[in-house]
Order: sequence, then structure tokens, then C-alpha cells
Amino acid sequence: MPEAPAPPPRIPFNKPFVAGKELFYIAQAVTKGNLGGDGFYTRACCRLMEERFGVPHVLLTPSCTASLEMAATLCGFEPGDEVILPSYTFVSTASAFVRAGAKPVFVDVRPDTLNIDETQIEAAVTERTRAICVVHYAGIACEMDTILAIAERNGLRVVEDAAQGVNAFYKGRALGSMGDLGCYSFHETKNLICGEGGALCINDPALLRRSEILRDKGTNRQAFFRGDVDKYTWVDVGSSYVPSEITSAFLYAQLEEMDRITRRRAEIFRRYAEGLAPEVAAGRLRPPHAPAGCVGNHHLFYAILASTEARDAALEAFRAANIQAVFHYVPLHAAPMGRELAGGRSLPVTEDLAARLLRLPMFFDLTETEQDRVIATFRGFLAGGPPPDA
Ligand SMILES: *Cc1c(COP(=O)(O)O)cnc(C)c1O
Repeated sequence: MPEAPAPPPRIPFNKPFVAGKELFYIAQAVTKGNLGGDGFYTRACCRLMEERFGVPHVLLTPSCTASLEMAATLCGFEPGDEVILPSYTFVSTASAFVRAGAKPVFVDVRPDTLNIDETQIEAAVTERTRAICVVHYAGIACEMDTILAIAERNGLRVVEDAAQGVNAFYKGRALGSMGDLGCYSFHETKNLICGEGGALCINDPALLRRSEILRDKGTNRQAFFRGDVDKYTWVDVGSSYVPSEITSAFLYAQLEEMDRITRRRAEIFRRYAEGLAPEVAAGRLRPPHAPAGCVGNHHLFYAILASTEARDAALEAFRAANIQAVFHYVPLHAAPMGRELAGGRSLPVTEDLAARLLRLPMFFDLTETEQDRVIATFRGFLAGGPPPDA
């Protein structure tokens, strides 16, 4: 019997990228002898982001989920208070607010960016609304001028879930720097990574003192270190939201290289866009769109297909070619917990686009040969035949 041909090598969706100095900085952290949090590397990461992103205070956290939990607590919800947010997002965006006692009110997304539809926000505001949490999907900004004006008119806090938006900009302002609070992720699936990690941008200086307390187990230890109080003690709710110096040392090596990392992702993005241009022109798929004034960080290359059937068949074609393409969020308002909390109102754009979207492999070390195989497989699928031999 003839042997079956070997399958082509697998192309994963994501591969964590190591910039180069990570292990050296970790060794330095070990040598310095301080492995708990808020040492040399934690401070270095915060200063670097404060300068680059124009944020008054950045605090490192163990994850974007932790940052969102801190942000939600800082909003100071009372029973019955509401937060407006998109349903097309990761579960932490909503769960952080639910844990802090707020009721999620889901608003539909814009068809062009899959970001919260700013024109539908004001209709969702009630006398119980206290905050808006926006998500900058794929590192492309929400329409922040409009959203900040709505918040101002209605006396609402704005939290930015900028998990995917590190080193991306809106009209010259960094994502995460515009709301009262901004949340970053350095999970290994994001552009800049440290395994698990995050940051909280404190843009309203009035929130700084309480955020330091929440982050340090509900104690005023930071005030003690500054000499503002002569002993530290338990003063508020809090948790363990300080990452270790080992994590921060890894992250610092990535932050130093953020321009190189973003440039490489831009090249990969451009190659996909050029390779798929004929299909886009023929209306067979829609790539990500950045509105005027938005400079993204090329976190994702997604494609929206004509129907759910076409999307699922495309995923199957990629699987057969040993390429890991993936769909994205199951909308939260349709999840069991979301239905129970928010009452199952339908969000037509979210439901439609979530069911037609897939994401292509995107990581720093993706080679041109691998990318060409992804493009050829996709074009072959869209042309209705088997992919041409790579
Ligand atoms: C990744 C992600 C999160 C969670 O980040 P962690 O650092 O893994 O907690 C939250 N929101 C969005 C939109 C994300 O993409």
C-alpha cells in the first residue's frame, strides 16, 4: 500500500514571541534579590508606558482581568447600578463589573469595527447607569470623542478595555489613556506579552490613592512607604493585584521592543491584505477596517464571510490544510450567564458578525512561506475549489 503523503506542517494561530532580553532581565531581577512586586522592573515598565502613552499613572497587575476588576471596584457601584458595554467581547469585560455589583446592559456593535456602536449608547442610559466600558476590538479604537461626550453629559465613568489595544492610537491619543481608567493585557496571545500580565492606567488622578490600596490587599502600605502614615493597616477591600518582578522583567524586554513588534505585525497584516485583495474586491470577504484617526497595532487579521455556513466551511478548509484559523467571541448576551443577568435582548449586528468572522494566524515569527500558504488556502476555498498546490 502506498504511504499517505505527510500532512503539511502545522501553522498555529499564535506563537508567543521572545524579543531577546527577557531571560537576561529575569536574571538581573534574581540578582537584585527582590522578587516580590513593585521593584526595579515593575517601576521601569510603568515609567516606560506612562511616557509612551501619556498616562499619568500606570500600575502593573497580574492580568487585564485583574485590571478590569480593580477598575470596576473603583467605579464604586451601589446595588442596582448599571454599566453599559458591548456583548461582543471577552467574558472578563462583563464579569469584572458583575463581581463589583453592577448590572450589565449590552449595546450592539458597529458593523465596520465591531466596537460598541456609539450612536446606540445614549438610548441605553437610565438613571441607574454609572459607567460605560468600551472595548477596542482588534486594537482599533472606539469612537472616543462621542463616547466621552456622552459620559460627560450623563455623569458616567468611562473604563477602556484596551486588552488588545496596547500601542494603538486614536487621534494621537493612546488607547487606555482616554477614559477614567484603561486596562491592558500582556497575556501570551496579545502583541506584547509576559505570559500572564496586565496594567491599569489611572487617568483620573483622584482614583490613584484608592487604586493603590485595592492593589495591595486593601492596605495603605504604599502610603506607609511614602512616609505619609507611620504604620500600615487594613483600610479597604482589596486583593493581591501585584505581579512579581520576574514577570515584570520579562515584560520590560517586550516593552522596549514595542515598535519593532508593532512594525512586524503591520507587515504581516499588509501581506494578508494584499494577498486577499482580489477576494475583498469581489465581495467574498471583508478585512478589518480602521476609521479615520485610528492607528491600530495590527493585533488581529480577521475576515468576515458572506454567511455562517461559509465561515464554518472555511474553518474546515483551514483545518484540512493543517492551519489553525479560529472564530472569536460567542456574544455574552447570548451566554447562559449573560441571558440571566441582562434579559436576552437581541443584538442583531453582534449576532450576525460573530457568526461570520474568522481570524487568521498572526504572530511575529510567521514566515512569508507560511503566510502564502494561508492566503492560498483561503483563496482556494473562496474560489470554490481545492487550494492550489503550495
Ligand atoms: C485578552 C482580553 C482580556 C483578558 O485579558 P487577561 O490578561 O487574559 O486577563 C479582556 N478583554 C479583552 C477584550 C481581551 O482581548
